[in-house]
Amino acid sequence: MNVSDSERVATVLESENFEMTPDEDSADIVLFNTCSVREKAEHKLYTRIGQIRKLYSKKKIVGVLGCVAQLEGETLFDKNPSIDFVLGTKAVGRVSKAIESVLEGRSKFLDVGEREPDYDWSVAETQKHSPYISFVPIIEGCNKFCTYCIVPFSRGREKSLPAPEIIRHVHKLHRQGVKEVHLIGQNVNSYRPKTSEGLEDFRGATAFSKLLRAVAATGIARIKFTTSFPRDFHTDIIEAINENENLCNWVHLPVQSGSNKILRLMRRGHTIENYFERIDKIKTSDRKISLTTDIIIGFPNESEVDFQDSLKMVDYCQFDSCYIFKYSPRIGTPAYQFEDNVSVEEKKQRFIELEERQRLNQHRIFKSYLNKTVQVLVEKKSSQNNFDLSGRTSCHKVVQFKGSAALLGKIVDIEITESKSNTLYGKVLNTFV
Ligand code: SAM
Ligand code: SF4
Repeated sequence: MNVSDSERVATVLESENFEMTPDEDSADIVLFNTCSVREKAEHKLYTRIGQIRKLYSKKKIVGVLGCVAQLEGETLFDKNPSIDFVLGTKAVGRVSKAIESVLEGRSKFLDVGEREPDYDWSVAETQKHSPYISFVPIIEGCNKFCTYCIVPFSRGREKSLPAPEIIRHVHKLHRQGVKEVHLIGQNVNSYRPKTSEGLEDFRGATAFSKLLRAVAATGIARIKFTTSFPRDFHTDIIEAINENENLCNWVHLPVQSGSNKILRLMRRGHTIENYFERIDKIKTSDRKISLTTDIIIGFPNESEVDFQDSLKMVDYCQFDSCYIFKYSPRIGTPAYQFEDNVSVEEKKQRFIELEERQRLNQHRIFKSYLNKTVQVLVEKKSSQNNFDLSGRTSCHKVVQFKGSAALLGKIVDIEITESKSNTLYGKVLNTFV
């Protein structure tokens, strides 16, 4: 979501004749788009601003955007008086106004206001993170209030974008030659637009599965969506994937813990048995769907037994990949009142143990792709020497292989010849689109 926000900020600035540079040295204005999900990300902001101020004698304008900006507001100026302006998560469309105010001599400009009703969600071609892949926000905010999470406070309540707007957006990207769209939101499957306009002709028990079918009908080559919330993950999503080849066979479904006691304390609204039911449906679907997740270890009161439940859960689910986070207390969340009683050492040990268990499972899963053929969207030149190109499968696995730059942006058949825990390697068989 933050990458997507940055693309739109850059789009606004470009349209106002600002020139973007990745080179910090030559920049007159430095913008920090911030994350506040864990404390570490917030600390990084203060360190980086300190570095900028120390390194360059020339005065640069420094603006802070995003979640930290939204949460801290005015107090950011107290924490670091050298910040020139602060723009909240919904105020990013007004970035040029903030810069102009500072250029006109106003110090400490603050805007944590609401999004404009006619906010433009599109991104200029020059500012996209990839020429072949586009993010399409479909819902912003979150109503779930999991006890550990700051997002409902930094991004506000759930608001779904109208379906006709989303579908028009995807049609436009398709016409521009984009191969893959990622429908994004904190919980995409909680999608509930105000009206069913644009979805009337599509089947599905929920608005989200109707939207998936509607986006599939645009004919764009690939559609991925993230993140899904377990409680709102219904079988109609799997049915839509099974029926539409261009809905990719990948589901990211964060579980957070394998222990019912911890899930209850986290207020996730589901039990581990509910979660397993969903996993069983995904694993037994007609198409082979890959499954990824997020897990928090060291949540307050997580005992050794609770942690063992998480290990068992990982073995049961056989995730294709997994983000593991050490619990980070966030001020203002309900869990901040709980005693952070799992020691730093225990958190470290559990992290290593869980990571190792996942690595073993993942190694086996990745090995099962040997000698198989997968379709890969060629995204970029590889950063590793031996392999020239890199891309992803429909199931979201990274594949590296040799090939000419002419393949960039194409979907190619790759035979897998080698596998590591996080990457597949192979050779090109033929090209599709
Ligand atoms: N909405 C998604 C869901 O409910 O599954 C997740 C969105 S959240 C921004 C991304 C991930 O950050 C979560 O799945 C969780 O694992 C992690 N996270 C959120 N708050 C955290 C905290 N206080 N400490 C550690 N990890 C956290
Ligand atoms: Fe955070 Fe829970 Fe909302 Fe996900 S569902 S963004 S974890 S509050």
